[in-house]
Amino acid sequence: MSDTRILVIEDEPMVSEVVERYLRRDGHEVRAERDGSAGLDAFDAFQPDLVVLDLMLPNIDGMEVCRRIRARSETPIIMLTAKGEEVDRLVGLEVGADDYVTKPFSPRELSARVKAVLRRSDRRASVDGDALRFDSLRINGRTRTVERGDSPVELTAREFDLLFFLASHPAQVFTRDQLLDSVWDFQFPGDGNTVTVHIRRLRTKLESDPSRPRHLKTVWGVGYKFEP
Ligand code: CA
Repeated sequence: MSDTRILVIEDEPMVSEVVERYLRRDGHEVRAERDGSAGLDAFDAFQPDLVVLDLMLPNIDGMEVCRRIRARSETPIIMLTAKGEEVDRLVGLEVGADDYVTKPFSPRELSARVKAVLRRSDRRASVDGDALRFDSLRINGRTRTVERGDSPVELTAREFDLLFFLASHPAQVFTRDQLLDSVWDFQFPGDGNTVTVHIRRLRTKLESDPSRPRHLKTVWGVGYKFEP
């Protein structure tokens, strides 16, 4: 854990200093930058394991920094946002941040999020070749095949896309709308019910007891997640 490198990109010195202090105290190696373009340069030079990124930054804003990092790497990103800023679009969607923390936040809260995101990305990294493995389930993104134990599971293209998307973000909760946006075609005229139906079919095909799913979990009042 002590060789985890974290890049903090935040223009407010007070916030940045507290964040830096806490992350160092947790044993991380920390580098801090004060604007978007210095942050991107530091990303290439420092090669961090995680980025803490403020949304409102001088010269290149956080949203754009996030996009540019995503264009070249899967490094986890936690966004710092102010209350009232649109965060739905940040996480899991087109911008691709892994999580966000709303200001004002306690350093302890941020430190907990950092640990959670690092744990998640460790799990993501334990990919076996092109396949994601979870117990007896193997999901291969290159060949678009799924096996349960030794038996292949027949999925439709959309069922596969949905499963692959959820399994690529283990334990992360997505709303039906987010899943529609991420998995279905642009401007797909479906609704949340479409997602529900596909989840039900996937459970029937993949879970030993579809009424008590092991992997494809409902998060009541929110949506769904893949429990690794
Ligand atoms: Ca700022």
